[in-house]
Amino acid sequence: MSITTYPIAAIATAPGRGGIGIVRISGPDLSGFVHAFFSQPLRPRHAHFLPFNDAHGQAIDEGIALYFKAPHSYTGEDVLELQGHGGTAVLRRVLARCFEVGAAFGLRHAAPGEFTQRAFLNDRMDLAQAEAVADLINASSEAAAKGAMASLSGAFSNQINALADRIIHLRMLVEATLDFPEEEIDFLEKYQAAEQLQSIHDELQSLRRHAKQGQVMRDGLHVVLAGQPNVGKSSLLNALAGDEIAIVTDIAGTTRDRVTQLIHIDGVPIHIVDTAGLRETEDTVENIGIQRSWQEIAKANVILHLIDARHPNDDSDQTIISRLPQHTPTIRVYNKCDLLETSHLDLLPKENDSHLRISAHTGQGLETLRQRLLHLAGWSPNTESPWLARERHLHALDRCDEHLQLARFHAQHDDQILDLFAEELRLAHTELCEITGTFTSDDLLGEIFSSFCIGK
Ligand code: GDP
Ligand code: ZN
Repeated sequence: MSITTYPIAAIATAPGRGGIGIVRISGPDLSGFVHAFFSQPLRPRHAHFLPFNDAHGQAIDEGIALYFKAPHSYTGEDVLELQGHGGTAVLRRVLARCFEVGAAFGLRHAAPGEFTQRAFLNDRMDLAQAEAVADLINASSEAAAKGAMASLSGAFSNQINALADRIIHLRMLVEATLDFPEEEIDFLEKYQAAEQLQSIHDELQSLRRHAKQGQVMRDGLHVVLAGQPNVGKSSLLNALAGDEIAIVTDIAGTTRDRVTQLIHIDGVPIHIVDTAGLRETEDTVENIGIQRSWQEIAKANVILHLIDARHPNDDSDQTIISRLPQHTPTIRVYNKCDLLETSHLDLLPKENDSHLRISAHTGQGLETLRQRLLHLAGWSPNTESPWLARERHLHALDRCDEHLQLARFHAQHDDQILDLFAEELRLAHTELCEITGTFTSDDLLGEIFSSFCIGK
């Protein structure tokens, strides 16, 4: 059964030229539309090679028409796919023709993500899976694409559902006990509720760890390069990126605007932000750049504070250190070690988690730096991250954890345990349902689907 009333259409393939271009239409019942468009019915799930004609019977294009009857389609509604040639103009004409024919059926242009939203509303997938559709399309590395596909096939949702089932089971026991107050006293013992709660808690912790990895894999890490002019920030960005994207010069203060480069370390996306060198200056334009640098630094997940290894105790660097945010993980990176005489190596702080020696020119120390960044990203190479997750999933899992802890607290400390215990279990359960979309506000749905591309 479909929830929506009007059909929607959009070009489903990416803008630009391609071998094939697809116009997709979805609606509760497209049989009338199909007949009007082709003057013949189409057999569902069969490839029909046909002309796509205009109002005068002239072919706009010819190609494959595929018809899927509800509910056996992507959206769970009737879906028609017109696969023609992948040119912008020809696809626009085919789409325009669809609207001409579709006017009688109330055909509208699809909003971003509306096909997938319908798939969600028609129970073809849950919300975490619908999000995975967008994540798969947007994946910037093969590892992220693999994770998105795993989420899409339900790997994440299945674990959420399994955990939810265990909470439901416990809730049922509590409700049953509340209905028979005389048994209340030995509820915890009788059903080993404390043990059950403990094992639900353990499972949730493992789920949170994996979700964190999945979120890093999806969103990556924002790393800001900070330091005085000429210490080699842009050179390091280039060395990490492997190609020339920032301007490198000998004149101090060249990188006035920020440059961001997306790199991948073991498939984990890392956004590296190069910034204008930090120093005292009278130059107005340069000062604007320096202000922006501080804004970037404030937003960073990780700060790489670059220091010229030949002057490790420079006063200006001490000033920078005193101004860096206290709570952001910071690595002091001593660059230009290739220029350092061996006798001066002793002047540098010992290498450890927060002090590294590198050379952007020779590549010395860069591999260690990459591994440090992964580690700070919360990434451990040994933990399989089977699926992608989003920030909102992490928050829901955190809140679920809080409610389970409160439930535990009531179980241990409260006289009226059962009512409060039951309520916390209910709230913990609700948080899990938010992830899969069983209970979700329209606002949230709108926000999620509007970030999709049109035609998906
Ligand atoms: P930024 O102002 O901090 O971005 O510094 P740049 O990357 O523009 O580099 C300033 C100067 O230092 C350039 O001449 C670079 O070629 C040079 N430089 C940067 N890193 C190294 C390094 O590791 N070794 C040597 N020898 N020179 C470097
Ligand atoms: Zn620079």
